[in-house]
Amino acid sequence: MDIVVVGSCVQDLISYTPRFPNPGESVRGRDFHAGSGGKGANQAVAAAKLGAKVAMVGRVGNDIFGPENKNNMKQVGVNVDHVTVSETAKTATATITVSDSGENMIVVVLGANMEMSPASADEAESLIAQAKVLCCQLEIPEEASLRAMQIARKHHVKTIFNPAPGLPNLDKSMLQYADIVCPNENEAEMLTGIHLTSIDDAKQAALKLITYGPSIAIVTLGGQGAVVVSKSDQEPVHVAAPSVKATDTTGAGDCFVGALAFLLVTQPHLDIKEQVRRAVSIASISVQRNGTQTSYPLSSEVDPSLL
Ligand code: ATP
Repeated sequence: MDIVVVGSCVQDLISYTPRFPNPGESVRGRDFHAGSGGKGANQAVAAAKLGAKVAMVGRVGNDIFGPENKNNMKQVGVNVDHVTVSETAKTATATITVSDSGENMIVVVLGANMEMSPASADEAESLIAQAKVLCCQLEIPEEASLRAMQIARKHHVKTIFNPAPGLPNLDKSMLQYADIVCPNENEAEMLTGIHLTSIDDAKQAALKLITYGPSIAIVTLGGQGAVVVSKSDQEPVHVAAPSVKATDTTGAGDCFVGALAFLLVTQPHLDIKEQVRRAVSIASISVQRNGTQTSYPLSSEVDPSLL
């Protein structure tokens, strides 16, 4: 396995409704969609759809959603041998309501993900040790992500740390185990205290992020692309995203991380700025389609010059 993702699996339950109900009220929705999600699983699927050999380390419940989540990853080639099944917690769910105005309300119950622990990472040590890239996020207990990153460091495996969702009290010393830290604007703001209102602010935040330990910092900026800086040259660069008609940006950040992991494995000699440029373009494909994992492109759907 070239890429190992230690992270979350979440079942998305999405209702589309003309308007949100008030407390105590029931409204009739228009449509319903169920799909597999979770930042960890999304990143694993994004990289696998591009053709990488990916293994997922995660946890689901012994319920109807657990096998569905595992099968969904399996179908795109993700190895799920290290996705364990809990007898005590349910598969995580995200109950999402999307109104006609495009706003959403989300309740996430992290269920079995929160049973992940440092021991879960220890059990996957031999898997992590032989990988080229590890991807971690924060939808499982941070001590589990930290242990996975420490194991990767011990075995000289490159780690991409996507500190999402942003946690206000995250121990920043964790970042010393990341080779690449990759937050979005809000997460970068939480980590650096810099209020991001411009690309220059994002560059300042990226420069601050590398002082916490990672050799590369990337701040994704939605439709504005991303900013990237390396410790070696300290010169932040803005990479613009292609101008596209975005219809659903859900999970775009995970598509970016999965694409970057894929490129680190398949194009290790490219400059990080070029790898980011390609990952930005690949993620911009996903925002032109509905859904999360379903919106991620297969390698056959990507311009070969980006792969
Ligand atoms: P999410 O939380 O929805 O997963 P995010 O906030 O983590 O997303 P973003 O910074 O919004 O991540 O987007 C990640 C990448 O996706 C961007 O760097 C860009 O490549 C692409 N992207 C997002 N929105 C757009 C857009 N409107 N047009 C083109 N590309 C986009």
